[in-house]
Amino acid sequence: MSTPGPEFFHATDRAQTARPLAQEFRTAYGTDPEGVWSAPGRVNLIGEHVDYTGGLCLPLALPHRTFVALRPRTDGVVRVRSLQEPSGVVEVPLAEVGAGSPQGWAAYVAGVPWALLQNGFEGLALTGGFDALVDGHVPYGSGLSSSAALECAVAVALGELVELPLDDTGRAGLASACQLAENVVAGANTGGMDQAASLRCHEGGAILLDTDDDSVTQVALDLAGAGLALLVVDTRAEHSHAGGEYGKRRADVERAAELLGVANLRAVDPAALDAALERLGTEPDGEVLVRRVRHAVTEIDRVRRTADLLQTGRADEVGPLLDASHDSLRDDYEVSCRELDLTVDTARAHGALGARMTGGGFGGSAIALVAAERVEEVAGAVAAAFAEQGLAAPRFLTALPSEGAARDL
Ligand code: ADP
Ligand code: MG
Repeated sequence: MSTPGPEFFHATDRAQTARPLAQEFRTAYGTDPEGVWSAPGRVNLIGEHVDYTGGLCLPLALPHRTFVALRPRTDGVVRVRSLQEPSGVVEVPLAEVGAGSPQGWAAYVAGVPWALLQNGFEGLALTGGFDALVDGHVPYGSGLSSSAALECAVAVALGELVELPLDDTGRAGLASACQLAENVVAGANTGGMDQAASLRCHEGGAILLDTDDDSVTQVALDLAGAGLALLVVDTRAEHSHAGGEYGKRRADVERAAELLGVANLRAVDPAALDAALERLGTEPDGEVLVRRVRHAVTEIDRVRRTADLLQTGRADEVGPLLDASHDSLRDDYEVSCRELDLTVDTARAHGALGARMTGGGFGGSAIALVAAERVEEVAGAVAAAFAEQGLAAPRFLTALPSEGAARDL
Protein backbone atom coordinates (compact mmCIF):
# COMPACT_ATOMS: atom_id res chain seq x y z
CA MET A 1 0.00 0.00 0.00
CA SER A 2 1.44 3.37 -0.94
CA THR A 3 1.41 6.10 1.69
CA PRO A 4 -0.21 9.39 0.65
CA GLY A 5 2.20 12.22 -0.16
CA PRO A 6 2.59 15.19 2.15
CA GLU A 7 -0.56 17.31 2.46
CA PHE A 8 -0.21 20.87 1.11
CA PHE A 9 -2.48 23.85 1.80
CA HIS A 10 -2.86 25.60 -1.50
CA ALA A 11 -2.88 29.35 -1.97
CA THR A 12 -6.28 31.02 -1.95
CA ASP A 13 -7.75 32.03 -5.29
CA ARG A 14 -9.23 35.39 -4.34
CA ALA A 15 -11.81 35.80 -7.09
CA GLN A 16 -12.91 32.16 -6.78
CA THR A 17 -13.48 32.60 -3.05
CA ALA A 18 -15.00 36.08 -2.88
CA ARG A 19 -17.84 35.54 -5.35
CA PRO A 20 -19.36 32.42 -3.76
CA LEU A 21 -19.02 34.09 -0.35
CA ALA A 22 -21.10 37.05 -1.55
CA GLN A 23 -23.70 34.54 -2.76
CA GLU A 24 -23.70 32.82 0.58
CA PHE A 25 -24.06 36.14 2.37
CA ARG A 26 -27.22 36.74 0.35
CA THR A 27 -28.59 33.36 1.44
CA ALA A 28 -27.67 33.97 5.08
CA TYR A 29 -28.88 37.56 5.47
CA GLY A 30 -31.28 38.09 2.58
CA THR A 31 -29.38 41.06 1.08
CA ASP A 32 -26.21 41.66 -0.89
CA PRO A 33 -23.07 42.49 1.07
CA GLU A 34 -21.60 45.95 0.65
CA GLY A 35 -18.38 44.22 -0.39
CA VAL A 36 -15.96 41.38 0.26
CA TRP A 37 -12.55 42.01 1.80
CA SER A 38 -9.72 39.67 2.71
CA ALA A 39 -6.52 39.67 4.72
CA PRO A 40 -3.62 37.21 4.74
CA GLY A 41 -2.03 35.08 7.38
CA ARG A 42 1.68 35.66 7.82
CA VAL A 43 4.89 33.87 8.42
CA ASN A 44 7.88 35.47 10.08
CA LEU A 45 11.15 34.96 8.25
CA ILE A 46 13.23 35.99 11.24
CA GLY A 47 13.00 38.10 14.41
CA GLU A 48 11.13 35.90 16.87
CA HIS A 49 9.97 36.83 20.36
CA VAL A 50 11.35 40.34 19.98
CA ASP A 51 8.17 42.23 19.06
CA TYR A 52 7.41 42.89 22.72
CA THR A 53 10.83 44.31 23.45
CA GLY A 54 11.11 46.94 20.75
CA GLY A 55 12.86 44.61 18.31
CA LEU A 56 12.87 44.09 14.57
CA CYS A 57 11.12 41.34 12.67
CA LEU A 58 10.75 40.41 9.03
CA PRO A 59 7.34 38.89 8.30
CA LEU A 60 5.70 38.30 4.94
CA ALA A 61 2.04 37.85 4.03
CA LEU A 62 0.96 34.36 3.00
CA PRO A 63 -1.07 33.59 -0.11
CA HIS A 64 -3.62 32.10 2.33
CA ARG A 65 -6.33 34.57 3.28
CA THR A 66 -9.41 35.08 5.41
CA PHE A 67 -12.42 36.66 3.72
CA VAL A 68 -15.26 38.67 5.11
CA ALA A 69 -18.42 39.68 3.26
CA LEU A 70 -19.91 42.57 5.18
CA ARG A 71 -22.85 44.92 5.16
CA PRO A 72 -23.23 47.80 7.63
CA ARG A 73 -26.27 48.03 9.93
CA THR A 74 -27.51 51.05 11.84
CA ASP A 75 -28.80 49.54 15.08
CA GLY A 76 -25.52 48.89 16.88
CA VAL A 77 -25.63 45.11 16.48
CA VAL A 78 -22.95 42.85 14.98
CA ARG A 79 -24.20 39.62 13.48
CA VAL A 80 -21.51 37.28 12.24
CA ARG A 81 -21.23 33.73 10.99
CA SER A 82 -18.08 31.82 10.03
CA LEU A 83 -17.95 28.95 7.58
CA GLN A 84 -15.32 27.44 9.88
CA GLU A 85 -17.45 27.53 13.04
CA PRO A 86 -20.52 25.43 13.78
CA SER A 87 -22.06 28.10 16.00
CA GLY A 88 -24.27 29.65 13.29
CA VAL A 89 -24.95 33.39 13.44
CA VAL A 90 -23.54 35.02 16.58
CA GLU A 91 -25.26 38.24 17.57
CA VAL A 92 -23.36 40.80 19.64
CA PRO A 93 -24.67 44.25 20.59
CA LEU A 94 -21.69 46.62 20.29
CA ALA A 95 -22.59 48.07 23.69
CA GLU A 96 -21.63 44.71 25.23
CA VAL A 97 -18.18 44.53 23.62
CA GLY A 98 -15.26 45.11 25.97
CA ALA A 99 -12.52 43.31 27.90
CA GLY A 100 -13.14 39.56 27.52
CA SER A 101 -16.52 40.07 25.83
CA PRO A 102 -17.76 38.50 23.67
CA GLN A 103 -16.08 35.18 24.38
CA GLY A 104 -15.02 32.83 21.61
CA TRP A 105 -14.16 33.53 18.01
CA ALA A 106 -16.61 36.45 17.58
CA ALA A 107 -14.22 38.53 19.74
CA TYR A 108 -11.87 38.78 16.75
CA VAL A 109 -14.71 40.34 14.74
CA ALA A 110 -16.71 42.47 17.19
CA GLY A 111 -13.50 43.58 18.91
CA VAL A 112 -12.39 45.48 15.82
CA PRO A 113 -15.02 48.27 15.67
CA TRP A 114 -14.73 48.55 19.47
CA ALA A 115 -10.94 49.02 19.24
CA LEU A 116 -11.20 51.48 16.34
CA LEU A 117 -13.57 53.61 18.43
CA GLN A 118 -11.24 53.34 21.44
CA ASN A 119 -8.42 54.63 19.25
CA GLY A 120 -10.38 57.67 18.17
CA PHE A 121 -11.73 56.61 14.79
CA GLU A 122 -15.28 57.70 14.00
CA GLY A 123 -18.08 56.73 11.65
CA LEU A 124 -21.45 55.04 11.44
CA ALA A 125 -19.78 51.83 10.24
CA LEU A 126 -18.12 51.63 13.69
CA THR A 127 -21.14 52.44 15.84
CA GLY A 128 -23.96 51.07 13.67
CA GLY A 129 -22.84 47.45 13.63
CA PHE A 130 -22.82 45.12 10.63
CA ASP A 131 -23.73 41.72 9.25
CA ALA A 132 -20.73 39.62 8.27
CA LEU A 133 -19.92 36.22 6.85
CA VAL A 134 -16.39 34.86 7.30
CA ASP A 135 -14.48 32.29 5.28
CA GLY A 136 -10.95 31.57 6.51
CA HIS A 137 -8.27 29.82 4.46
CA VAL A 138 -5.48 30.32 6.98
CA PRO A 139 -5.04 27.19 9.07
CA TYR A 140 -6.10 27.85 12.69
CA GLY A 141 -3.75 27.73 15.60
CA SER A 142 -0.73 26.87 13.43
CA GLY A 143 1.19 30.02 14.32
CA LEU A 144 0.31 31.50 10.92
CA SER A 145 -1.98 34.08 12.43
CA SER A 146 -5.49 33.18 11.41
CA SER A 147 -6.56 35.48 14.25
CA ALA A 148 -4.90 38.56 12.74
CA ALA A 149 -6.16 37.61 9.27
CA LEU A 150 -9.71 37.66 10.62
CA GLU A 151 -9.29 40.94 12.51
CA CYS A 152 -7.53 42.64 9.62
CA ALA A 153 -10.14 41.57 7.04
CA VAL A 154 -12.80 43.18 9.24
CA ALA A 155 -10.58 46.24 9.84
CA VAL A 156 -9.89 46.90 6.18
CA ALA A 157 -13.63 46.61 5.45
CA LEU A 158 -14.57 49.04 8.21
CA GLY A 159 -11.65 51.33 7.36
CA GLU A 160 -12.88 51.62 3.82
CA LEU A 161 -16.47 52.19 4.93
CA VAL A 162 -15.40 55.10 7.18
CA GLU A 163 -13.28 56.43 4.29
CA LEU A 164 -9.96 56.06 6.00
CA PRO A 165 -7.09 56.45 3.52
CA LEU A 166 -5.67 52.95 3.16
CA ASP A 167 -2.08 54.08 2.69
CA ASP A 168 0.60 52.73 5.00
CA THR A 169 -0.21 55.29 7.71
CA GLY A 170 -3.92 54.39 7.62
CA ARG A 171 -3.01 50.72 7.74
CA ALA A 172 -0.69 51.26 10.70
CA GLY A 173 -3.66 52.76 12.55
CA LEU A 174 -5.83 49.77 11.68
CA ALA A 175 -3.07 47.38 12.77
CA SER A 176 -2.76 48.91 16.20
CA ALA A 177 -6.55 48.78 16.67
CA CYS A 178 -6.53 45.09 15.67
CA GLN A 179 -3.81 44.41 18.21
CA LEU A 180 -5.90 46.19 20.86
CA ALA A 181 -8.91 44.03 19.93
CA GLU A 182 -6.79 40.88 20.23
CA ASN A 183 -5.18 41.92 23.53
CA VAL A 184 -8.28 43.26 25.28
CA VAL A 185 -11.39 41.71 23.74
CA ALA A 186 -9.97 38.30 22.77
CA GLY A 187 -7.66 38.45 25.80
CA ALA A 188 -4.55 37.22 23.95
CA ASN A 189 -1.45 39.02 25.15
CA THR A 190 0.45 39.29 21.85
CA GLY A 191 2.74 41.82 20.19
CA GLY A 192 1.90 43.75 17.04
CA MET A 193 3.75 41.80 14.36
CA ASP A 194 0.83 39.73 13.06
CA GLN A 195 -1.50 42.62 12.37
CA ALA A 196 1.25 44.77 10.85
CA ALA A 197 2.16 41.95 8.48
CA SER A 198 -1.42 41.24 7.47
CA LEU A 199 -2.15 44.90 6.73
CA ARG A 200 1.17 46.39 5.62
CA CYS A 201 2.87 43.70 3.49
CA HIS A 202 2.89 43.79 -0.29
CA GLU A 203 3.19 41.11 -2.94
CA GLY A 204 6.80 40.20 -3.67
CA GLY A 205 8.23 41.38 -0.37
CA ALA A 206 8.54 41.12 3.37
CA ILE A 207 8.36 44.02 5.78
CA LEU A 208 11.14 45.00 8.13
CA LEU A 209 8.99 46.01 11.09
CA ASP A 210 10.53 48.11 13.81
CA THR A 211 8.33 47.41 16.82
CA ASP A 212 9.97 50.27 18.73
CA ASP A 213 8.24 52.93 16.62
CA ASP A 214 5.96 50.81 14.38
CA SER A 215 7.78 51.92 11.26
CA VAL A 216 7.96 49.60 8.28
CA THR A 217 10.50 49.25 5.48
CA GLN A 218 9.44 47.23 2.45
CA VAL A 219 12.06 44.58 1.61
CA ALA A 220 11.89 42.84 -1.76
CA LEU A 221 11.95 39.06 -1.45
CA ASP A 222 12.16 37.44 -4.85
CA LEU A 223 12.40 33.83 -3.75
CA ALA A 224 11.33 32.39 -7.10
CA GLY A 225 13.87 34.58 -8.92
CA ALA A 226 16.59 33.14 -6.69
CA GLY A 227 15.37 29.58 -7.39
CA LEU A 228 14.22 29.23 -3.79
CA ALA A 229 11.05 28.40 -1.93
CA LEU A 230 10.04 29.01 1.65
CA LEU A 231 8.47 25.81 2.90
CA VAL A 232 6.20 26.18 5.93
CA VAL A 233 5.60 23.11 8.06
CA ASP A 234 2.58 23.13 10.35
CA THR A 235 3.69 20.58 12.94
CA ARG A 236 0.12 20.38 14.33
CA ALA A 237 1.64 20.25 17.77
CA GLU A 238 0.01 22.49 20.32
CA HIS A 239 1.32 22.43 23.82
CA SER A 240 -1.05 23.52 26.52
CA HIS A 241 1.57 25.44 28.54
CA ALA A 242 2.39 27.77 25.61
CA GLY A 243 0.33 30.70 26.93
CA GLY A 244 1.88 30.58 30.39
CA GLU A 245 5.41 30.28 29.04
CA TYR A 246 4.82 33.24 26.72
CA GLY A 247 3.86 35.36 29.72
CA LYS A 248 6.97 34.21 31.58
CA ARG A 249 9.27 35.14 28.67
CA ARG A 250 7.72 38.59 28.51
CA ALA A 251 8.20 38.98 32.25
CA ASP A 252 11.86 37.85 31.94
CA VAL A 253 12.73 40.40 29.28
CA GLU A 254 10.87 43.19 31.06
CA ARG A 255 12.75 42.45 34.26
CA ALA A 256 16.07 42.26 32.42
CA ALA A 257 15.43 45.62 30.75
CA GLU A 258 14.59 47.13 34.11
CA LEU A 259 17.78 45.76 35.68
CA LEU A 260 19.80 47.12 32.76
CA GLY A 261 18.07 50.50 33.04
CA VAL A 262 16.78 50.51 29.45
CA ALA A 263 13.25 50.93 28.09
CA ASN A 264 13.48 47.62 26.20
CA LEU A 265 16.12 45.21 24.94
CA ARG A 266 16.29 46.94 21.58
CA ALA A 267 18.31 49.56 23.39
CA VAL A 268 21.10 47.09 24.17
CA ASP A 269 23.84 47.56 21.58
CA PRO A 270 25.07 44.14 20.35
CA ALA A 271 28.62 45.44 20.83
CA ALA A 272 27.84 46.00 24.52
CA LEU A 273 26.07 42.65 24.99
CA ASP A 274 28.86 40.97 26.96
CA ALA A 275 28.95 43.78 29.51
CA ALA A 276 25.15 43.61 29.87
CA LEU A 277 25.24 39.84 30.34
CA GLU A 278 27.96 40.09 32.95
CA ARG A 279 25.86 42.54 34.89
CA LEU A 280 22.77 40.33 34.76
CA GLY A 281 24.83 37.29 35.73
CA THR A 282 25.18 38.63 39.26
CA GLU A 283 21.39 38.51 39.86
CA PRO A 284 19.92 35.53 41.76
CA ASP A 285 18.10 34.33 38.60
CA GLY A 286 20.88 35.71 36.42
CA GLU A 287 21.62 32.53 34.48
CA VAL A 288 18.13 32.53 32.94
CA LEU A 289 18.08 36.28 32.30
CA VAL A 290 21.45 36.08 30.56
CA ARG A 291 20.10 33.55 28.08
CA ARG A 292 16.87 35.45 27.47
CA VAL A 293 18.74 38.69 26.80
CA ARG A 294 21.33 36.97 24.64
CA HIS A 295 18.52 35.64 22.46
CA ALA A 296 16.76 38.98 22.09
CA VAL A 297 19.86 41.03 21.33
CA THR A 298 21.44 38.54 18.92
CA GLU A 299 18.08 37.90 17.22
CA ILE A 300 17.52 41.59 16.54
CA ASP A 301 21.02 41.72 15.06
CA ARG A 302 20.26 38.69 12.86
CA VAL A 303 17.17 40.47 11.53
CA ARG A 304 19.30 43.44 10.51
CA ARG A 305 21.75 41.18 8.76
CA THR A 306 19.01 39.23 7.01
CA ALA A 307 17.39 42.44 5.76
CA ASP A 308 20.79 43.64 4.49
CA LEU A 309 21.27 40.41 2.54
CA LEU A 310 17.78 40.59 1.02
CA GLN A 311 18.20 44.24 0.13
CA THR A 312 21.37 43.39 -1.77
CA GLY A 313 19.80 40.45 -3.64
CA ARG A 314 21.49 37.74 -1.60
CA ALA A 315 18.48 35.71 -0.41
CA ASP A 316 20.50 32.53 -0.93
CA GLU A 317 22.84 33.57 1.91
CA VAL A 318 20.31 33.93 4.74
CA GLY A 319 20.24 30.20 5.64
CA PRO A 320 22.88 30.34 8.40
CA LEU A 321 21.02 33.24 10.04
CA LEU A 322 17.81 31.18 10.08
CA ASP A 323 19.71 28.28 11.62
CA ALA A 324 21.26 30.49 14.29
CA SER A 325 17.83 31.93 15.08
CA HIS A 326 16.42 28.47 15.70
CA ASP A 327 19.31 27.41 17.88
CA SER A 328 18.94 30.56 19.96
CA LEU A 329 15.17 30.05 20.36
CA ARG A 330 15.72 26.42 21.32
CA ASP A 331 18.64 26.80 23.72
CA ASP A 332 18.56 30.34 25.09
CA TYR A 333 14.90 31.29 24.86
CA GLU A 334 13.57 27.74 25.39
CA VAL A 335 10.42 28.06 23.28
CA SER A 336 10.95 25.20 20.84
CA CYS A 337 9.64 21.66 21.22
CA ARG A 338 10.31 18.17 19.93
CA GLU A 339 8.17 18.53 16.78
CA LEU A 340 9.76 21.85 15.79
CA ASP A 341 13.28 20.54 16.39
CA LEU A 342 12.53 17.39 14.40
CA THR A 343 11.25 19.48 11.48
CA VAL A 344 14.28 21.77 11.51
CA ASP A 345 16.82 18.94 11.87
CA THR A 346 15.17 16.90 9.10
CA ALA A 347 14.92 19.84 6.71
CA ARG A 348 18.59 20.67 7.28
CA ALA A 349 19.61 17.06 6.74
CA HIS A 350 17.75 17.10 3.41
CA GLY A 351 19.50 20.11 2.01
CA ALA A 352 17.56 23.10 3.34
CA LEU A 353 19.72 26.23 3.23
CA GLY A 354 18.39 27.09 6.68
CA ALA A 355 15.44 26.24 8.91
CA ARG A 356 13.86 27.56 12.08
CA MET A 357 10.74 27.53 14.17
CA THR A 358 8.52 30.52 13.47
CA GLY A 359 5.84 32.15 15.59
CA GLY A 360 5.46 31.77 19.33
CA GLY A 361 6.80 28.22 19.54
CA PHE A 362 5.80 25.20 21.69
CA GLY A 363 4.20 23.83 18.53
CA GLY A 364 2.86 25.67 15.53
CA SER A 365 5.01 26.02 12.45
CA ALA A 366 8.59 25.92 11.25
CA ILE A 367 10.07 27.26 8.02
CA ALA A 368 12.76 25.91 5.75
CA LEU A 369 14.44 27.81 2.96
CA VAL A 370 14.98 25.28 0.19
CA ALA A 371 15.91 25.12 -3.47
CA ALA A 372 12.59 25.32 -5.34
CA GLU A 373 13.00 21.89 -6.90
CA ARG A 374 13.52 20.25 -3.49
CA VAL A 375 10.27 21.34 -1.82
CA GLU A 376 8.55 17.98 -2.28
CA GLU A 377 11.62 16.05 -1.18
CA VAL A 378 12.06 18.03 2.03
CA ALA A 379 8.33 17.90 2.80
CA GLY A 380 8.34 14.15 2.19
CA ALA A 381 11.33 13.68 4.49
CA VAL A 382 9.70 15.69 7.29
CA ALA A 383 6.44 13.75 6.90
CA ALA A 384 8.37 10.46 7.02
CA ALA A 385 10.29 11.53 10.13
CA PHE A 386 7.03 12.39 11.90
CA ALA A 387 5.47 9.07 10.91
CA GLU A 388 8.54 7.20 12.13
CA GLN A 389 8.27 8.86 15.54
CA GLY A 390 4.53 8.19 15.78
CA LEU A 391 3.61 11.88 15.51
CA ALA A 392 0.48 13.17 13.74
CA ALA A 393 1.09 14.00 10.08
CA PRO A 394 2.35 17.57 9.61
CA ARG A 395 0.90 19.80 6.90
CA PHE A 396 2.75 22.02 4.47
CA LEU A 397 2.45 25.18 2.47
CA THR A 398 4.78 27.30 0.42
CA ALA A 399 4.96 30.96 1.34
CA LEU A 400 5.06 33.22 -1.67
CA PRO A 401 5.19 36.83 -0.41
CA SER A 402 1.66 38.09 -1.00
CA GLU A 403 -0.49 41.19 -0.84
CA GLY A 404 -1.79 42.59 2.45
CA ALA A 405 -5.43 43.15 3.36
CA ALA A 406 -7.54 44.47 0.49
CA ARG A 407 -10.97 44.58 -1.08
CA ASP A 408 -11.90 41.66 -3.33
CA LEU A 409 -15.42 42.55 -4.48
P1 ADP B 1 -3.38 31.60 15.05
O1 ADP B 1 -3.60 33.07 14.98
O2 ADP B 1 -1.93 31.25 15.14
O3 ADP B 1 -4.04 30.85 13.94
P2 ADP B 1 -4.86 31.96 17.44
O4 ADP B 1 -5.17 31.08 18.60
O5 ADP B 1 -4.23 33.27 17.69
O6 ADP B 1 -4.03 31.09 16.40
O7 ADP B 1 -6.21 32.27 16.66
C1 ADP B 1 -7.06 31.23 16.28
C2 ADP B 1 -8.48 31.61 16.65
O8 ADP B 1 -8.92 32.71 15.79
C3 ADP B 1 -9.49 30.52 16.39
O9 ADP B 1 -9.53 29.64 17.48
C4 ADP B 1 -10.76 31.32 16.23
O10 ADP B 1 -11.24 31.73 17.49
C5 ADP B 1 -10.28 32.57 15.52
N1 ADP B 1 -10.43 32.41 14.04
C6 ADP B 1 -9.44 32.37 13.12
N2 ADP B 1 -9.94 32.19 11.88
C7 ADP B 1 -11.28 32.10 12.01
C8 ADP B 1 -12.37 31.89 11.09
N3 ADP B 1 -12.16 31.70 9.79
N4 ADP B 1 -13.62 31.84 11.62
C9 ADP B 1 -13.83 32.01 12.94
N5 ADP B 1 -12.86 32.20 13.84
C10 ADP B 1 -11.59 32.24 13.39
MG1 MG C 1 -3.03 34.45 16.49
